[in-house]
Amino acid sequence: MRKPTRLIAFGAAGTMAAALAVPALADAPTDTTQFRDAVTVEGVRDHQAALQAIADANGGTRASSTPGYDASVDYVTDTLIDAGYQVSQQEFDYELFVVNAPSVLDPTSPDQAPYVDDEDFIVMEYSGEGDVTAAVQAVDLTLPPTAAPSSTSGCEAADFAGFTAGNIALMQRGTCTFREKADFAAAAGAVGAIIFNEGQEGRTDLLSGTLSPPQAGIPVVGTTFEVGNEIAGLAASSLTVRLATDVEVRPATTTNVIADSTSGRTDRTLVVGAHLDSVLEGPGINDNGSGSAAILETAEELAELGGTRNAVRFTFWGAEESGLIGSQHYVDQLAARDLKNIRAYLNFDMVGSPNFVRFVYDGDGSAFGVSGPNGSGHIEQTFVDYFASQELASEPTQFDGRSDYDAFINAGVPAGGLFTGAEGVKTAEQAATYGGTAGLAYDPCYHQACDTFANNSDTGLDQMTDAIAHTTLLFAQTKSAINGTGEATTKLGEASFRGHVAVK
Ligand SMILES: [Zn+2]
Repeated sequence: MRKPTRLIAFGAAGTMAAALAVPALADAPTDTTQFRDAVTVEGVRDHQAALQAIADANGGTRASSTPGYDASVDYVTDTLIDAGYQVSQQEFDYELFVVNAPSVLDPTSPDQAPYVDDEDFIVMEYSGEGDVTAAVQAVDLTLPPTAAPSSTSGCEAADFAGFTAGNIALMQRGTCTFREKADFAAAAGAVGAIIFNEGQEGRTDLLSGTLSPPQAGIPVVGTTFEVGNEIAGLAASSLTVRLATDVEVRPATTTNVIADSTSGRTDRTLVVGAHLDSVLEGPGINDNGSGSAAILETAEELAELGGTRNAVRFTFWGAEESGLIGSQHYVDQLAARDLKNIRAYLNFDMVGSPNFVRFVYDGDGSAFGVSGPNGSGHIEQTFVDYFASQELASEPTQFDGRSDYDAFINAGVPAGGLFTGAEGVKTAEQAATYGGTAGLAYDPCYHQACDTFANNSDTGLDQMTDAIAHTTLLFAQTKSAINGTGEATTKLGEASFRGHVAVK
C-alpha cells in the first residue's frame, strides 16, 4: 500500500522546505539545473524553423495525410534516430473529412440575404453532404437561454414527437453532443440540421463543432447564437431555407512516430507526447510545432545524459486535429501489459503562444471539478511547484479531453501537461500577471495560415521548455510511485472537446 506522504514528497520535489520534510526513504529530488541549461529555446526554434521550411515546401500545411505531414514525420524520425532512440512509425487508417466548397444557408421564404459561410455559420466536421430546401422546425429550444448552459434541445427522441419528416431541424447547443442531436433529427426524418450556440456569455460566437466519425447522414451546420435566434423567430411563423454542404469523408492513412530510449526500466516507462499535425489552414508552428519541437529538443538532450533510471518514450501523434485519432489508436492497440508499464503521460500541445499564459492541466480537478486518474494531481503539482521555484505564476486549465492525453486518462494512466492558450481571450488579470495584451486571444493565429514561425513568444516558449525539461527528467529519474493512492481511477464525464473541436 502506498502512503499519502510519498505523494506530498514527490509533488513538492525540488523545493527546499519540502525536501526537509521528506522522510529518509523517499526519493531525493533530482537537480535538473544542468539539464535545463542544455535544453535551449534556440534548439526548439531550430526545430520549428525546420517544420516551417517543410510547410513552405508543401503548400503551407502539415496536416495529416498531406506531404507536409509526411515530411514532418521523416524529420522527427531522422532526428530521433540520430540521437540514438529506437524509432518506429506506426501507421493507422482513419476517416478524413474534406470540405470541397463553401456551404450555403439561405432563407428562401420569406426571402432574405443568405447567411455568410464561416462567419454566420459553418459546416460541422463529419456532416453529411446534401442540398436541401425545406421548412425549418424548432426542436425544444430554450429562448431566451437560461443563465447556465442546460438546453436539452434534440437530446432525446421524445423532442421529435411532433416533428414533420422532410423538415430541417433547428436545435440549440446544450447538454448532449452535436452527434446525438444530428442522429435523433435524422431518425425523425429531418433532411438537415442547424445547431446554434446556446446564448449565454461565452456561448454566443460561431459554433464550430464536430459530429465525430462516421459521417452523418444529413447536412449539419453550426451558427452563432444571433443567427440561430433569428431563424427561430422567423420559423415561429414560417421559414424555408436552402441548406447545402459539399463535403466528403475519405479513407486515409497517417502515422505516429514513437521513439524509445534504449535504457531505463521499461516497467516504469514515462511517455512524453505532442501532436505533430497541423490543420489544413496553415503550417501549425505554434499548434503544435511548439510542443513537437520542445519535446524533440528535450529528447535529444536527454539522450546525451547516457541513460535514465526509467525508460522514456517520446511520441508524436498524427491526426490529432481530426479528433485525437493517432493517440487513441496508439492506446487502443497497446497490450494490457504494455499499458500497465506506462507510469505517466505528459502532453504538450501549444507551448509558445504569442499572448501566453502559463497554464497547467488541472489534474486534481481542484479548479474545474474533473480530475484525471490518481497521480494526475501530482503531475500538476510538479509543474506548479517548478514554476513557483522560478518565481513564475501559473494557473490551472481544464483537463477536459481537448488533447492527446484523453486516451491515456480514459485508460487509467496518470497524465498532465502544459498549455499557453489557443483561441481563448486574455483577461486583464492575466495580462497583469503574465504580460501581453488583455482582450486579445492567447494565440490570435490559432488554426490559421498565420500560425507561422513568427507566431511565437520566445519568453513563453523558453519558460515552458524549461518546465518540460525539468519534469521529463524528474519523472525519468524518480524511484517514487507516480500513481499514488492505489484507489480506482476517477471516471471523467463526457468531454466537451474531441481534439481541438467542440463535440457538445
Ligand atoms: Zn494542438
